[in-house]
Amino acid sequence: MANDEPSASTLREFHDRLRAAYGPQHWWPVQDADNPRFEILVGAVLTQHTAWTNVEMAIATLLEAGPLQAQALLAHEDLPQLIRRAGPHNIKAKRLRALCTWFVEQGGFDTLQKRDSATLRRELLALHGIGHETADVILLYAFQRPAFVADAYAFRIMERYGWTSGTRNYERLRRRIEQAGPAGDAAFYDELHALIVAHAKQRCHKRKPDCEHCVLHDRCDHGRATIAGAERAV
Ligand code: SF4
Repeated sequence: MANDEPSASTLREFHDRLRAAYGPQHWWPVQDADNPRFEILVGAVLTQHTAWTNVEMAIATLLEAGPLQAQALLAHEDLPQLIRRAGPHNIKAKRLRALCTWFVEQGGFDTLQKRDSATLRRELLALHGIGHETADVILLYAFQRPAFVADAYAFRIMERYGWTSGTRNYERLRRRIEQAGPAGDAAFYDELHALIVAHAKQRCHKRKPDCEHCVLHDRCDHGRATIAGAERAV
């Protein structure tokens, strides 16, 4: 039987099976233990369309240039050069400056943390260069809000699994998962996103998913079809 929308129990099972397979993920990886939440803001922008290893190099360069703080980043006239390892540096410098300006003008984490998630998401989405995925990464990892990051990995796996189909719609998938997920449990979404990334990289590859060795294969529409096809061919 094909999957439909996730329920609380099927989403929990999806999470628990991945967790059993890959273990705790300990996200978000940061280099500056003194200021991890602001580093997450910076990393969320730098990682747009760029491999994480490039982000790590850019953040290391920023840390060598001074404290990783909003005012300090705004003062760097050579910000594009400092982050050049993380892809299109002029574009990302402009986005970082917009984010830092908002952060400073709004009073930093002390003030922003008091805002509800819908308000924070709306304000983030209004900033230059902040789309749905970046906003939800910031909400989840910097503000510890229960937000589902419906990135390309999530779409790939959940389309195959049978939880979404048709034209990709970020908000529709985000709401679908958040309606099934545990209310208010940011730790669940933190781990779920990290596990989805691990699963996409290690098993549910873009071109050739390894369904035979996947812990979800008996629940996944694509996995069941693939394995049934392989058995018929024997
Ligand atoms: S069974 Fe295959 S398609 Fe489904 S989640 Fe696992 S690897 Fe991906």
